[in-house]
Amino acid sequence: MDGELYLDAAATEPVSEQVVQAMMPFLTEAYANPASVHQPGRTAARALDAARHSFAADLGARADDVIFTSGGTEADNLAVKGIALARMATIRRQAANTSTDANAVTPRIIISAIEHPAVAQSADWMAKYFGFEVVRIPVDEQARVDLNALESRLAEADLPDDPDAGAWHSGTDHHGNRPVNRTALVSIMLANNEVGTIQPVAEIARIAHAHGVPLHVDAVQAAGQIPIRMHDWDLDALSVSGHKFGTPKGLGALLVRGRTPIEPVLSGGGQERGLRSGTQNVAGAVALAIGLHESVARIAAQHDRLVVSRNELIHAIEQAVPQAKLTGDPNHRLPGHASFIFPGVTGEALLVDLDARGIACSSGSACAIGRHEIPPTLLAMGVPEPIAKSALRLTFRRPLTPDEIRFTAAAIRDSCRSLGLQTA
Ligand code: PLP
Repeated sequence: MDGELYLDAAATEPVSEQVVQAMMPFLTEAYANPASVHQPGRTAARALDAARHSFAADLGARADDVIFTSGGTEADNLAVKGIALARMATIRRQAANTSTDANAVTPRIIISAIEHPAVAQSADWMAKYFGFEVVRIPVDEQARVDLNALESRLAEADLPDDPDAGAWHSGTDHHGNRPVNRTALVSIMLANNEVGTIQPVAEIARIAHAHGVPLHVDAVQAAGQIPIRMHDWDLDALSVSGHKFGTPKGLGALLVRGRTPIEPVLSGGGQERGLRSGTQNVAGAVALAIGLHESVARIAAQHDRLVVSRNELIHAIEQAVPQAKLTGDPNHRLPGHASFIFPGVTGEALLVDLDARGIACSSGSACAIGRHEIPPTLLAMGVPEPIAKSALRLTFRRPLTPDEIRFTAAAIRDSCRSLGLQTA
């Protein structure tokens, strides 16, 4: 194999040539501030508007839903903190009007046990500074969220009907027919970063809405890899990050429906519907639109081939190292995502050894030399700590060639052997 085989696309992707070309004019001659009233400003504003329309369409959403941000982390923070803050006062008032139970006035945020830290720590921050209760819904051994647990944790937080309460959801009447719930929001990811499992978010939206609660979905790992239909699935807010689909790092968006209550977390000039102040990055917005559009076109062209090559890779690794065990849902998983545990070795040692053999991959969680965390999703799936430490994640955006598959499986076998594991 010539050069390093890059199997860490879930961490980040290279910027595509088309994206670079599309950005150039807005970094050079068309540099004006899109808020300026003069002609160059209007040119920049038109480009921003066109990018917003294209980007929204590729996610099954409307242009007015799009709030451009500095990436997935900011989008998740805005969603969790912004929606929780907007719903907090309403929940406290309604609870005080309708219930004598002091507990009822504690607002709640429901997340899954496998959310990215950008969601999980935002929820914990709301607990620390605003007294929210954070409920984590468990997952099974394939990282599928327990929908019965979600339903019952929502049901127990229903408050008595308040005839004066206005419901946030456009599908309800405004006379208390929908129960008021002390849950401010549910936040569950579309696809998991460590093990690639895809959650049934349309079903989760139905469950949350039946209790009058909005749903935020972190789609950072999924956008550009699988089709997303935000409105058809009835999602209220959706986070995406550009560097996972070919834009420079530090670009992303929160899509948030007009009906969803949300407060800004940044104060300033009122750009992006007042929800994300700061002069917009026009070249960045163009990059997001082009990068996503290219990736969505690629899904249509190569999805089946990608799945076949992923399954061949999984099979080849299982043949080469009998101790290897696939993690996550074998069927409902991202097409270019293969993740394993290798009981008997540590993922960190494996990563370093594979790097020396010309394969760049990761353990599936924040990982740097000297800062190797135990993958939290695997722990939530019930994998014992010493085995969770043996995790390895291989992620790619294009079908692998038979040579690449053979090379990878052989390199993993040789690495495992050199680390003391008996292999095939
Ligand atoms: N959410 C998930 C599921 C992710 O995998 C990541 C990054 O890997 C993020 C959020 C954060 O995105 P960003 O790197 O754009 O801040």
